[in-house]
Amino acid sequence: MRATMSTVDRDAGSLRAAFYATRPISRDNLVPEDPSLGLVAFSSPFDPEPSLAVEDGRVVELDGTPEADFDLIDEFVARHGIDVEVAPEAMALDTVAFARMLVDPAVPRAEVVRLAAGMTPAKIAKTLALLTSVEILQAIQKLRVRRTPSIQAHVTNRVDHPLLLAADAAAAVALGFRELETTVPVLRDAPSNALALLVGGQVAAAGALTQCSVEERTELELGLRGLTTYAETVSVYGTEQVFLDGDDTPWSKAFLASCYASRGLKMRFTSGSGAEALMGAAEGKSLLYLEARCIAVTRAAGSQGVQNGGIDGVNVTASVPGGMREVIAENLCVMLHDLESCSGNDTLMSSSDLRRVAHTLPLLLAGADFLFSGFGSIPAYDNAFGPSNLNAEDIDDYLVIQRDWGFEGALRARDDAELLALRRRAAEACRAVYEELELARFSDEDVDACVVAHGSLDVPELAPDLVPAIGERIMETGLTALDAVRALAARGYETEAERVLEMLRQRLLGDFLQTAAIFDEGMHVLSALTDPNDYAGPGTGYRMSAGRRAEVASVRQVWQRTDLLADQTAAAGCVRLAEVGPARSRVRPDEVVVGVSPAFAVEIWAALGGLTVAEVLRQVLAGIEEEGVASRIVRVGHSIDLGAIGWAAARLSGSGVSVGLQAKGTALIHRADLPPLANLELFSIAPRVTPELYRGLGRNAARFARGAAPEPLLLPESSEPLGPKYHARVVQLVALERRLVRPGDPVEVEAQWPA
Ligand code: CA
Repeated sequence: MRATMSTVDRDAGSLRAAFYATRPISRDNLVPEDPSLGLVAFSSPFDPEPSLAVEDGRVVELDGTPEADFDLIDEFVARHGIDVEVAPEAMALDTVAFARMLVDPAVPRAEVVRLAAGMTPAKIAKTLALLTSVEILQAIQKLRVRRTPSIQAHVTNRVDHPLLLAADAAAAVALGFRELETTVPVLRDAPSNALALLVGGQVAAAGALTQCSVEERTELELGLRGLTTYAETVSVYGTEQVFLDGDDTPWSKAFLASCYASRGLKMRFTSGSGAEALMGAAEGKSLLYLEARCIAVTRAAGSQGVQNGGIDGVNVTASVPGGMREVIAENLCVMLHDLESCSGNDTLMSSSDLRRVAHTLPLLLAGADFLFSGFGSIPAYDNAFGPSNLNAEDIDDYLVIQRDWGFEGALRARDDAELLALRRRAAEACRAVYEELELARFSDEDVDACVVAHGSLDVPELAPDLVPAIGERIMETGLTALDAVRALAARGYETEAERVLEMLRQRLLGDFLQTAAIFDEGMHVLSALTDPNDYAGPGTGYRMSAGRRAEVASVRQVWQRTDLLADQTAAAGCVRLAEVGPARSRVRPDEVVVGVSPAFAVEIWAALGGLTVAEVLRQVLAGIEEEGVASRIVRVGHSIDLGAIGWAAARLSGSGVSVGLQAKGTALIHRADLPPLANLELFSIAPRVTPELYRGLGRNAARFARGAAPEPLLLPESSEPLGPKYHARVVQLVALERRLVRPGDPVEVEAQWPA
């Protein structure tokens, strides 16, 4: 829409402001700080001052509250979450001095962790509030527990299709995800989802952990039966009221944690700022202080890690100033407590692509035990947790960003053919298990559709009661992971049977109860004990192997030289420029000389925009002719610079006017009396030049030659980024031009057009 002065409504505001209102970022709701509602990232005026009093080894005051006034959280942390041996030293330490210890690579991780164990939540929150974002990231690089970062996927679909879950689980593991999390829209589906994920998750490689996030009782039962191999969704909160609303206490959560541990199952708690404000019970405290209390409860309960920083409450945190800095401070707080950090980047936090990537990238650069606590490995519409901050739609972008920055993003590109084969094996293995256990039968069409599907919209609908009925049957018959092992083995899936059995065996060994434990694909446990983070400054800590760097560099968008030059081969021979002798000088006063570059119609046959060099040349010559002016062609061999080519041609031209053409399609009009690097008109953006514009350029050159005024030539309107698409190609073409450069004067050439 273009407005003229007479139609502008002076009271309506600017068109720029109206445009801004249509931007995705304008759909995000932000709020001012309001401590009374808990809407403040750091340092609420209602946060307590750090304090700790210990009498006879017993905590009698915590963060300004005397023992008699302890709430449930204070009591739990005071009794189980403070190392009273180190507390006097730790609490006496100046907060700024401790903050500097977090960042300083010369201070060992173990020393920081030792001191943090004696600190109260208010002391830790006050320390973290001092750090800038970059300081937080530097501290994360040093303080995360495991040296090797890993990543967790959401594997879900809208309809809980078991074969699709299995195929997607196999694909996720093939891409590098080491924990797979599923959930359900309907609780009755949960056992079926857990079984499908367990089977599919062991197809591409050994050792991926799987879980099913549902109501705590069912989740525990699925774990006890071996249908899941870890648990994560045990939520804790920073105020007593929110615990009580959930009919829970820190003790009930600790009991649940012990249940998992007693059966050799890895488990971590879930917190993440914003939940207390969402429940209207933040007590005026800052988001970080309440999260510090959650993490203190987690450590006190003996859980091995925390999923936080960008979980369900992230949209509350993101609405206040400094919210994203608070999120990474939460992650750092977990690491300070020597717990595994499954560091959020989970819930979609903005309508703006720029903003959601700005949330995610800093943590990727710093590295975490789990970079995501739920990357949607499936399309956003199939993410039963709600869309993640990144989903299947974003995987290629993620892989390229990983390649750009060289951080360990834990994922790799895989060929479509490899993925299809794995998806087929997973879908067929899952079907075999369901048949063998008399849970359900699926058709070949079901399998085929799930193998190739992008998401659940691409597969035939299931009968509405099918999956709930499977779930109920699994629960009623007491089916366990051993039944799945037996079914896999009976139907010839020996490898998968061994791998599922191995996950059960590992529960007896218990090594994956070590803090921050994962299995690599060779079933080695990587954990705080076997793979401790040893970052101590440049040249230390996790570094990619040469093989891993090559894997990271290999993405779908990499073009080989032959691919980039394929259109040259296709257009070869489109015109022949025959050399007829040294270039003549000033043949007639009404001529325009067209100077072409060294590789023009020699090795380069197609311009960047896809036109052949023959078409470019033909249009320019036709434009000159339309204005009744003569033309001839010279090859300028001594330079690839378009200004130099045009200027050399202009000095040979009777009118003093020339057209310069590079083979890639860049073109200009030059005149002999101008400095070599000047010009009269320039098409610098070759991919956007149309045949009509080349013809117009020829006409204008002729007009300059006649002393007439040129016509205005406008490139088509576009904001498409051309550099990313063409610059790698330009490098190949310029190298061809450079190789053909020869010293000496221009030569006269004659165009011979194929019949
Ligand atoms: Ca998760």
